[in-house]
Amino acid sequence: KAHASCIVIPDAENTYPLDQFAVPQHYKDDLNSVMIPNGLILNRLEKLAQDIVEDIHAPLVVLCVLKGGHQVFSDLVNFIKQLNTRAGRSLPLSLEFIRMKSYHNDQSSGKVEIIGMNMSNLKGKHVLVVEDIVDTGRSLVKLCNTLNEQGPETLRTFSLLLKRTPHSNGFQPDYVGFEIPDEFVVGYCLDYNEYFRDLDHICIISPVGREKYKE
Ligand code: 5GP
Repeated sequence: KAHASCIVIPDAENTYPLDQFAVPQHYKDDLNSVMIPNGLILNRLEKLAQDIVEDIHAPLVVLCVLKGGHQVFSDLVNFIKQLNTRAGRSLPLSLEFIRMKSYHNDQSSGKVEIIGMNMSNLKGKHVLVVEDIVDTGRSLVKLCNTLNEQGPETLRTFSLLLKRTPHSNGFQPDYVGFEIPDEFVVGYCLDYNEYFRDLDHICIISPVGREKYKE
């Protein structure tokens, strides 16, 4: 199935110059450019929160895939909570957190481990999985297979970013923030060996950064 329409970010040549945005001093040599400024991420999440509240009426389990999904989960849930305090909108939420590990340096390992929650909490529930990025799609396919074994009433997926890559297995999340070019991105809680999570914008890493934080 096709994912819902989203914002398409053009190829890397069209990203924003780094010196036009505020970035942490400690990363100024480690980044090539800004791909998605923080403000644009928030504006997009505000709309996706509206879409979710329109689509889903039952109590919802929102499942955060740590660590990378932390920031998008937190900002998305905040927008849903704002809608819940306005007349005519009520989507009760419960929040769950899991961890998966699939990447060493920036190569896909092909394997995924799931840790951190009592999976039987999902039986008969409406579940929305919130991820930071879909690259090959392998992590989310594996996660959805595992979650479906628990017998949720419905299972939907949300990814802030979806990479345009020939390595995609065709997996299409139900909600997507931005389709992005095939570059390794960091920031907004996406890391490179645990660095760059403390950067607000989604940026393209530089060769200097890649080398400096290599494991
Ligand atoms: P997939 O299984 O779809 O290939 O990869 C999903 C996971 O790979 C993401 O949750 C993320 O941890 C990691 N990943 C893939 N592409 C990128 C990227 O461009 N930047 C970062 N920081 N992580 C990525």
